[in-house]
Amino acid sequence: MEKIILIKYGELTTKKANRNLFINILTQNIKNSLKNYKIKLTKNRVRMFIEIENDNELEEIIEKLKKIFGIHSIVICYKTDNNIENIKNNVLEITKNIDFKTFKVITKRSNKNFPIKSMDFNNIIGGLLLKNKQNIKVDVHNPEYTLKIEIRENNTYIYSKEIEASGGYPIGVAGKGILMLSGGIDSPVAGYMAMKRGIKLECLYFESPPHTSPQALNKVKKLVEILSEYQPDIKLHIINFTNIQENIYKNINPNYMITIMRRMMYRIADKIRENNKALIIINGESVGQVASQTLNSMYVINNVTTTPIIRPVACLDKIEIIEIAKKINTYETSILPYEDCCTIFLPKHPIINPKLEKCLEYEKLLDYNQLIEEAITNTQTIKIEKNKKFNF
Ligand code: ATP
Ligand code: MG
Repeated sequence: MEKIILIKYGELTTKKANRNLFINILTQNIKNSLKNYKIKLTKNRVRMFIEIENDNELEEIIEKLKKIFGIHSIVICYKTDNNIENIKNNVLEITKNIDFKTFKVITKRSNKNFPIKSMDFNNIIGGLLLKNKQNIKVDVHNPEYTLKIEIRENNTYIYSKEIEASGGYPIGVAGKGILMLSGGIDSPVAGYMAMKRGIKLECLYFESPPHTSPQALNKVKKLVEILSEYQPDIKLHIINFTNIQENIYKNINPNYMITIMRRMMYRIADKIRENNKALIIINGESVGQVASQTLNSMYVINNVTTTPIIRPVACLDKIEIIEIAKKINTYETSILPYEDCCTIFLPKHPIINPKLEKCLEYEKLLDYNQLIEEAITNTQTIKIEKNKKFNF
């Protein structure tokens, strides 16, 4: 009995015009993710089929597929011949290790030479299961388990359990975005949510050595590595922010230090975005979480650019963000206690309702265009690839 993986697409059905793009990018993403396995991939407008050469790899392959956005669900499908006894034996074998209390059988018979009608075959297979499995009963309206049998010209296909996958759009469909990635809890979650909408990520990290340590940078690399489970190769741009921060510290009214610092971050992020042909910036800001994330602060900070800034976690509670962080496995790394450049030189009373005019006035005290240009010229870019082990 041959195993085939059947893939049901995500939100594709509602996006008719982009169907081909969606399917082509998803195909490419699947091929990339499974490049170390011997597979054969075929597709049509509604489904994709993956035949695998080595059955032992089935579980591993399914785990990988579960992390590919654009896949709604994964069905393991068994192919056998049209011999009735063989079909029955296969059904017993397939359902042997699946637990359910209520079930239903749906047969589709496109091969009219097959001697038993669909409804009758449902009854035969239903009876077979009732006889061979303990404590189960038929429920045609709301079954826990549905066994589908398709009898075609040369073969019969038996569909077993449907495994939920990540949904969303294939990464790349929506274009590219720059994720401002700190070592905290929020920004990796923001990155994950953006990828889920089909946005290909490049990450941007501001470090301030020696005020921030190499461990803080390693933590960010580790987070990128975790995110690369979803997007196999992610670029990380590292900006040395020390000079800018020290200049802010020396010259700017302490209450406005964070506001100005974040305006500088946005200016740099926007340049990096432009240089790397991305269309948007993504960050992990959440309304009201800290002084720089009040609506007033957001307004003033955002004012340095007209580029769309997507804040996927803007309206989530911290508890909700943490829940996602745990689910995607970034939480344990995020809570490692290394300082971020936002937390050093932290003033006692960062302003929560900054004024734009004040920012403009204070910024005159800095030669910030020059400082920004220097920082961008010294950008260090590394590529973090899935399956490649780093020693962080
Ligand atoms: P996080 O948990 O993601 O660190 P946070 O709640 O600590 O977020 P802030 O430190 O104010 O909030 O940062 C808000 C957002 O700004 C972050 O989510 C991130 O997108 C960006 N950011 C902050 N620090 C950095 C940094 N060092 N490098 C890159 N982006 C940063
Ligand atoms: Mg932070």
